[in-house]
Amino acid sequence: MHSLQGKTALVTGASRGIGRASALALAKAGARVLVHYSSGAAEAETVVADIRQAGGRADALKADLGAPDGPHTLARQVREVVGERLDILVANAGVSVGATIEETTVDDFDRMFAVNVRAPFFLVQQLLPMLGKDSSVVLVSSLAAHASVGALSAYAATKGAIDTLVKHFASALGERGIRVNAVAPGVVETDMSKFAKTDAGRDFTLSLQALKRVAQPDDIAGAVAFLASDASRWITGDTLRVDGGSKL
Ligand code: NAP
Repeated sequence: MHSLQGKTALVTGASRGIGRASALALAKAGARVLVHYSSGAAEAETVVADIRQAGGRADALKADLGAPDGPHTLARQVREVVGERLDILVANAGVSVGATIEETTVDDFDRMFAVNVRAPFFLVQQLLPMLGKDSSVVLVSSLAAHASVGALSAYAATKGAIDTLVKHFASALGERGIRVNAVAPGVVETDMSKFAKTDAGRDFTLSLQALKRVAQPDDIAGAVAFLASDASRWITGDTLRVDGGSKL
């Protein structure tokens, strides 16, 4: 893996799941990692402790990214801890509500767009003064953005918005030397995709995929670390499918 020694990274939603695995992967590659959380203080502190125990540097930062000023609050804290320069932003925090079109409520729709779309948008905006040449922004899309997988139309639309933002951000920020990409996981066994732990969920998941096992957060973290690193220096504006060959 390419070294991230001397780099600073913020991973949102790093208390659990894909964010936690990404924070650990970036720290293992040498980055100093800011472990963001919202409700999972104890989980975030465990991630920080694990990184420190392995000889790395990490701090936990709390912010509710469902609140309109959440990204602004988080960006202020980031600046207080690491100063003027952020090398890597992994905007991973997300929420998902599985519901048919009929079942989808306005509250759930708004919450998903607030956390999954508004927060990454304004986090990038608020962190821009700290991002610069060779910074890498990694957003998190989903298989659901380009394939119908279950009753997820509102959630899928939030991830479609991420794929659009990646292109526009990359285009606008390229001349500053900032790269912007996304990973698009398929089903990953986390709290968000608990159904993958059931027999029926596992069968459904495997039926979608070329590779016949259920993905774990680590399977995504490697791709996040790649996009964060110099190994991907000529890639920007792309959404990288990290889904075991789902819906081919
Ligand atoms: P997860 O295990 O449910 O973890 C979600 C993370 O997001 C937690 O760290 C949580 O923080 C944070 N979060 C939730 N609401 C928040 C809020 N209002 N403010 C701040 N942070 C908030 O989810 P995951 O499966 O790892 O998903 C991570 C990303 O991957 C999401 O963007 C998701 O859409 C995407 N994704 C997941 C899958 C999958 O199958 N799992 C597939 C494709 C894409 P706290 O616990 O501290 O509150």
